[in-house]
Amino acid sequence: MESGGYARDAGIFSLDPTALIRAIDEEQIVDILRVSEHLGLPVVARAGGSNTGGAAITDGVMLLLDEEHFSWIETDEEQGRLRCGAAARHDRVQRSFARFGYHLPSDPSSGPLSRLGGNINTRASGPHALRNGAINRYVREIRLITADGTIVDTRHPLDVPRRIVGALRRLGRRIAADAPARARLEARRHSKWASGYELLALLDHADDPVRALPRLVTGSVGTLGIVTDAEIDGQRRDEGRAAVLLRFARDRDACAAALVLRDDAQAVEMVSSSTLELLREQVPELSAEGTGSLLIVEYSGPDAATEARQAVDRLPQASGVLARQVAVSEPQIAAIWRERKALLPMVRRLTGRVGVPYSVVNDVGVDAHRLPELLDGAEQVFARHRLPAAVYGHAGSGNLHLRPFFAPGDLETVASVAEEIYLLVTGLPGTITAEHGMGRLRAPFLELEWGSDITGYMRDLKSIFDPHDLLNPGVLFVPSSCRFRTHRWPTHPSLSGSR
Ligand SMILES: Cc1cc2nc3c(=O)[nH]c(=O)nc-3n(C[C@H](O)[C@H](O)[C@H](O)COP(=O)(O)OP(=O)(O)OC[C@H]3O[C@@H](n4cnc5c(N)ncnc54)[C@H](O)[C@@H]3O)c2cc1C
Repeated sequence: MESGGYARDAGIFSLDPTALIRAIDEEQIVDILRVSEHLGLPVVARAGGSNTGGAAITDGVMLLLDEEHFSWIETDEEQGRLRCGAAARHDRVQRSFARFGYHLPSDPSSGPLSRLGGNINTRASGPHALRNGAINRYVREIRLITADGTIVDTRHPLDVPRRIVGALRRLGRRIAADAPARARLEARRHSKWASGYELLALLDHADDPVRALPRLVTGSVGTLGIVTDAEIDGQRRDEGRAAVLLRFARDRDACAAALVLRDDAQAVEMVSSSTLELLREQVPELSAEGTGSLLIVEYSGPDAATEARQAVDRLPQASGVLARQVAVSEPQIAAIWRERKALLPMVRRLTGRVGVPYSVVNDVGVDAHRLPELLDGAEQVFARHRLPAAVYGHAGSGNLHLRPFFAPGDLETVASVAEEIYLLVTGLPGTITAEHGMGRLRAPFLELEWGSDITGYMRDLKSIFDPHDLLNPGVLFVPSSCRFRTHRWPTHPSLSGSR
């Protein structure tokens, strides 16, 4: 069959689906799942296809939820809530909230590309995750179809099969009794990560595991079921906004300032000094307003302007700050964000001039206190391989986008750099994916991040919903023998050299 644009997502792998099926209702999805189970064929739901980790591709059945039938949106203004079909586009969901003064605070910059089903399944978030968290906080109810065609709807808890409820309860009890695993899960409660299942939900809802399901499904990259719709809580939009732009001589100073300023902030974004230098060298039209690394801090609410001014005053002269600018009007704020927002298109324009920014290690995260170590370590990896790199991201929550520029087709170096960066990050410790979500690219490192005990519990959860591993296999778990070197990652799917 002709797989057209469906052989790729926004990552580096490609696979040709055996079948591409567009479902118009849940009965069709149930049929597709049952036939696939009978034939032993994997099934992968695809939404906007903007996943960067190779989670929205398959050599089995690719299932598309027809937009006309699965993108309805019902509004509950009184409760500040929406119920949406899984194929609803992210930007449309935001527009529906905006009509009554709300928004979905989980705001990936891929809003124009992605859909609700994809956002939920990748645990999407954005710059405002610092204060508002990821989408797991906002998914109130969820409806999904498991591998054997069972419909599970958290709005009707009594209809959820007893087999599933009992198995979830038993898994929750086992984790609760495992003090070291429980402590490590608790330690991650407030950090930003999108790697694997949120097992903490089982501990928080020990008496009523159905309530854990919305959080368990967020970030599950299509491995627990096909999500058909969800109920999403919005948040009232704050009136008032202000932003501060700061330039620092050294990245280390910018990281230290991010820690001081992040408490009241909505977003703390950073661009490293070498990135700005690279951009200025390669894109002369970029105004050279100053050198050094860049920090943008945004505040919202009625006191935003005061908070922004106080934040600037809070930074001591010795903080290494070279320039400060406070913006309290919308045009001023837009001007401040321009340099940060210009970054992605510029990174794309650099392709071919300095190399190709393959999406490999693009959303790692650490505790924000350890950002300097992450920056130093990443710099050493890139220097060892003589690679220029763009480094920028959400400093307030310790989540950086690392975009090394590789020589076109140098896949050996791509694999080495990915391995070295993921080893660095998990050793700090940190997460292999803070916001883009899991996929083939990162699956070999899940266990390094969480340990064999927690990864084991994740496998147990998977087998409750999909005992034969037919829903998107290979995007979370790989056989423990499969590591980059020994298995010559990334050869299990074919690696395409064109991106
Ligand atoms: C330029 C760019 C910028 C980005 N910026 C951000 C960002 O700021 N923040 C962020 O979090 N991410 C970002 N991403 C990553 C990506 O856009 C997000 O992960 C997004 O949520 C994926 O949504 P999608 O609709 O494209 O899903 P897809 O890529 O189609 O699918 C993602 C995963 O969800 C599963 N899935 C999709 N629909 C369903 C369903 N109905 N049922 C079960 N499983 C399903 C798929 O099988 C797959 O595993 C960015 C990506 C790009 C290319």
